[in-house]
Amino acid sequence: MKIGTLASHSALNIISGAKAEGFETELYCTPERIPFYKSFGMEDSIVEVPSFDAILEMDLSDVIIIPHGSFVAYIGSERILNSNLRIFGSKELLRWEEDRKLKSLLMKEAGLRVPKEFEKLDDVNTPVIVKSDGAAGGEGYFIAADKEEIEAKLDSVKGYTFQEYIVGTKVFTTYFNSLAKDRLEVFGADIRYETDADANLRFDDKPSFVVVGNLPLVLRESTLAQYYDMGVGFIDAFKRKTGQNLAGPFCIETIIDKNQDIYTFEFSGRIVAGTNVWMPSSPYSFVTFGEDMWMGKRIAREIRDLHETGRLDDVLR
Ligand code: AMP
Ligand code: AMP
Repeated sequence: MKIGTLASHSALNIISGAKAEGFETELYCTPERIPFYKSFGMEDSIVEVPSFDAILEMDLSDVIIIPHGSFVAYIGSERILNSNLRIFGSKELLRWEEDRKLKSLLMKEAGLRVPKEFEKLDDVNTPVIVKSDGAAGGEGYFIAADKEEIEAKLDSVKGYTFQEYIVGTKVFTTYFNSLAKDRLEVFGADIRYETDADANLRFDDKPSFVVVGNLPLVLRESTLAQYYDMGVGFIDAFKRKTGQNLAGPFCIETIIDKNQDIYTFEFSGRIVAGTNVWMPSSPYSFVTFGEDMWMGKRIAREIRDLHETGRLDDVLR
C-alpha cells in the first residue's frame, strides 16, 4: 500500500508526511517539475507522467490517492468522480462542493451564517461580489457597489452569482475529522493572501482575487472555540444529508466582520494549501499529539490507524 499525489499544490506536505509515517510514496510529476521536487530529495517518489490526467490511465490499485486543489483544476471533478482511483476522503463531498446550489444548502444545513445571494439583478440591494460560474482561484470575480455598477461592468448576467460583499478579515480554518479516533480536530487557521484585493495601494476599480499564498493565523481562543462548533455542525449536517461520515481534512472559508460575526462563503472537502504554513506543526496539532504533526503526516497517520483496525475502506470512496 502506497500513498500518492500529483506534484503540485500541497504535494510537499503530503509526501513528506507519508514518508514520516513510513509509507512508500508516489509523486506523479510532469517533466518540467522534476528538478524542483528532486531538490527536496524526493527522487525516490517521482513517477514521471506526460500530463497530470495520465494517472487516470494507470494501474494505481495499490495506491491511496490524496486529492488536493490541483486535481479539480487539472483533471476535472467529473473525471475524478467517475474514476477507479482509491481516493482518501469523500467523493460525495466533492460532488456537493462542485455544485453551487448543493454547496450553499450544506452550509445552511450546518447552521453557518452565509452571505446573502441574489437570484436576480433587480434584487441586489447591497454591495456585492460577482462570481463567474466555474471560476477557479478567484479569477474573473469583481466587486460592485450596486445594481447600476453591475450593469455597467457586465454585458450579460448569465453565468454569474451575486453575493453580498462582506468587509472584514478572511479566515480559513482547517479541520481533520478522524474516524479512527472518533473526534474532530481543529488543525489550524490561515489568511489567504490575494492579488490585487489585498494590496495596500490600488489604482484600478476591478481588483482581482487571484491567490498568491497564505499567511499563518492564530485566532483568539474564544473565536477558535466558535470555529470548533462550526466544524461539528458541518460534519453533522453532511451526515444528515448524505448518510456518510466526512473523513479527513476539510476547510471552512470565512470572513469575520467588525462585529465579530463570522460569515462562511465557501468550504473545501480536502487538504487546502493553507495547511502548508503549518509544517512541521500547528500550535493546535502540537497540543493534540505532543509531537510535530502537519497535515500530510496527519492524513498518513489516519490511513495507518484505519488500516490496522480493518476500516480503511470506509474512507476510500
Ligand atoms: P498550481 O499548482 O499553482 O497550478 O495550482 C493548482 C490549483 O490549486 C489552482 O486551481 C490554484 O488556484 C489552486 N491553488 C494553489 N495554491 C493555492 C492556495 N495557496 N490557495 C488556494 N488555492 C490554491
Ligand atoms: P471563492 O472562489 O469563493 O473562494 O472566493 C475567492 C475570494 O473572493 C475569497 O478568498 C475572498 O477574498 C473573496 N470573496 C468571496 N466571497 C466573498 C464575499 N461574500 N464577501 C467578500 N469577499 C468574498
